[in-house]
Amino acid sequence: MNKSYDAIIIGAGIIGCCTAFELAKKGIKTLNIDKLASAGDGSTGDTCAIIRFHYSTQQGVTMAREAYFYWLNRGHYLGLVDPAGMAKYVNTGCLLIKTKRNNYGKNFMTCMDEMGVVYQELTAEQVEEKMAVIDSRQFGPPVRMGDSRFGSPTADRLPGAVYIPETGYINDAKLSTKNVQTACEAKGGTFLFNREITHIVKQKGRVEGVRLKDGTHILAPVVVNAAGPHSYRINQMAGVAQGMNVSTRPLKVEVSHVPAPDGFNYNCLGMMITDGDVGNYSRPEIGNHVLIGSEEPDCDELHWIDDPDTYNKNFTDQWTVEVLRQAQRIRGLPVPQGNFQGLVSLYDCSDDWIPIYDKSDLPGFYMAVGTSGNQYKNAPAVGVLMAELITACENGRDHDREPVSYNMVFTKRTCNIGFYSRLREINSDSSFSVVG
Ligand SMILES: Cc1cc2nc3c(=O)[nH]c(=O)nc-3n(C[C@H](O)[C@H](O)[C@H](O)COP(=O)(O)OP(=O)(O)OC[C@H]3O[C@@H](n4cnc5c(N)ncnc54)[C@H](O)[C@@H]3O)c2cc1C
Repeated sequence: MNKSYDAIIIGAGIIGCCTAFELAKKGIKTLNIDKLASAGDGSTGDTCAIIRFHYSTQQGVTMAREAYFYWLNRGHYLGLVDPAGMAKYVNTGCLLIKTKRNNYGKNFMTCMDEMGVVYQELTAEQVEEKMAVIDSRQFGPPVRMGDSRFGSPTADRLPGAVYIPETGYINDAKLSTKNVQTACEAKGGTFLFNREITHIVKQKGRVEGVRLKDGTHILAPVVVNAAGPHSYRINQMAGVAQGMNVSTRPLKVEVSHVPAPDGFNYNCLGMMITDGDVGNYSRPEIGNHVLIGSEEPDCDELHWIDDPDTYNKNFTDQWTVEVLRQAQRIRGLPVPQGNFQGLVSLYDCSDDWIPIYDKSDLPGFYMAVGTSGNQYKNAPAVGVLMAELITACENGRDHDREPVSYNMVFTKRTCNIGFYSRLREINSDSSFSVVG
């Protein structure tokens, strides 16, 4: 047997690092173990790192709003300036295109009203005034590339949009994760890289630690699954998957990366666009580029992955579909031929695209999983949530019967952690897409 810790966190992505940081702040001796070489090398390193507020549920908006203030007050949150450099929040504003599928933005606006998030409703004409390269015609509902309707407008004007001034992105997601690692280490946390967990060790009906691929045992009375797209495997190892009503599985996604329209300073004048009318989201990217991802329109097939270690990382038609769809909305967007830039990655997707932040049926084993392509922004608040949950449960609280809640620092709202339960019914308020 090797050393022992109070808590082992499986994964050093943004969720695992933020969870460890909050536990370490409580004086808990933490160890993050990751099979990759450094913090944020997993799916966090591929994130578009968009910080936004529009979610389909009130809890989603509240969590995003709470976490936003951690990003804004980053130095205060971390308690140090990382010698490696500090990741920064870049504000862009957001255009949320109204569609029938998103109920013309009404649910988002109701939830944002509750949280005091400022927004402005725009007509199609005002959308073009906000961003000169926007084509405000309606093209949706989205169709596949081979459809004869692809690229043709379906109405002269969009139903309008919602402009949300406070939206942006973090300029370097890996560095932001490293920053949390550094802050965690300053509080006594430890990290072990290039080591893979192959077994969850149990003793007398509770978790006792983990076993690594090289045979090393490491002991801890608390183990947290923050393994991102591998989360389902870790739950299987722990034998807790059967006791969950909501499950997780890896979903393959592609992000396209193209130059901005010639002569348009997208870094200064571009915005995040969440555009169910063409089926995409996009944001400005450093170097006058545009990052484009899919919002999973009904016409697209989802690519579920059996093995997150061996899936095909080549671009497919999806790359081209996303760029062509975005070119409907952004006039003059170049469509590079044969020069695919961007990335292929995995979401750790839950059945309802809402995360699972919970205990499990195995005492001492917890999970922060199912982040569904939309929880990078929430990670600082998730760290707090997980630390509250773990300390309450380890002090004897039966969270399944009497859900733990706590007061959020910035928004002064009560967070009912039971909302994220593995035992919940599938949440029908969800968008069942990356929007959450
Ligand atoms: C393309 C893309 C775009 C996204 N865009 C956004 C966005 O704009 N805004 C937003 O809020 N969210 C976004 N997300 C979602 C967000 O990035 C994720 O929710 C978040 O990064 C997940 O962090 P994580 O720590 O759970 O997972 P990861 O970063 O994947 O970390 C899990 C870690 O666990 C390790 N691990 C797994 N199994 C083992 C094992 N057996 N032993 C040891 N280590 C193990 C892995 O190596 C990995 O490093 C996006 C995601 C993707 C993929």
